[in-house]
Amino acid sequence: NKRQLPGYSVVIRDLTDIRDAERSRLLETRNKELEQYSYIISHDLQEPLRTICNYIEVIEEDYADQLNATLSKYLTRIKQATMRLQRLVHELLDYSRIGKKSTPQKLPVDGLIRNVIDDLEGLIKEKQATITLAENFPELWVYELEIQQLFQNLISNALKYSKKNVKPEIGIDVKEMEEHWHFTVADNGIGVDQSSYETIFEIFRRAQHTKDYEGSGIGLAHCKKITELHDGQIGVESTVGEGSTFFFTISKFLEFNKEGQNDRG
Ligand code: ADP
Repeated sequence: NKRQLPGYSVVIRDLTDIRDAERSRLLETRNKELEQYSYIISHDLQEPLRTICNYIEVIEEDYADQLNATLSKYLTRIKQATMRLQRLVHELLDYSRIGKKSTPQKLPVDGLIRNVIDDLEGLIKEKQATITLAENFPELWVYELEIQQLFQNLISNALKYSKKNVKPEIGIDVKEMEEHWHFTVADNGIGVDQSSYETIFEIFRRAQHTKDYEGSGIGLAHCKKITELHDGQIGVESTVGEGSTFFFTISKFLEFNKEGQNDRG
């Protein structure tokens, strides 16, 4: 009996492997479909949206003398909603384009983070925030613009979701693991409820307790897609009212997988 056990467990493992492979194949197909839908929808929506905007302009310019206060108010509402829709459509289009036309390069990650911090200088000053960087950032094979966007989203969220009257303190760290690099962006902000740990990474999903903050809920979906582009994973751990630590990983083998590929179709 005992001698049969190892063979038995090998069979189970094989089945698990097949199931995992099947699951990741399905997930990949689903993501590809989502990407195509996002592209088609956002692309096709742009034209009718442009028509609406043009007609709003015509009404405002040519019929200004016929507008009373109520009509003007309604027109402003229509304009605001249209602008918001336009922003969402653009964001959706950007989402479907992530990683499409770029190649990974070997780059010093701290340089990329510093570019992002420079871009956010105004907001950092306004919020009186402190950002602390680790000293051991590696040179890595990464998609340059995408990685900058990833840090840009995480850092601007850390600034945005800060507690009232508490200066944001943000720490960016990295740890070397066997097969990947593990990055963290930690803040002392309002935190994320455990029930939202997964959903906030889905497109246009936001946590309930942050409804009063401006946003459309696509930033973290971008981040998830960008980490997947780097064969990595993303997640968050948090204590509500104390702060959040967002983490993501970047594979050490990207160089071998992706080198020379310049259009991921
Ligand atoms: P947005 O900020 O536009 O809503 P994101 O996709 O970047 O979109 O974030 C999704 C949601 O995750 C946010 O609405 C917020 O509820 C939550 N969130 C993201 N970052 C943080 C953070 N640093 N602290 C607390 N909550 C966060």
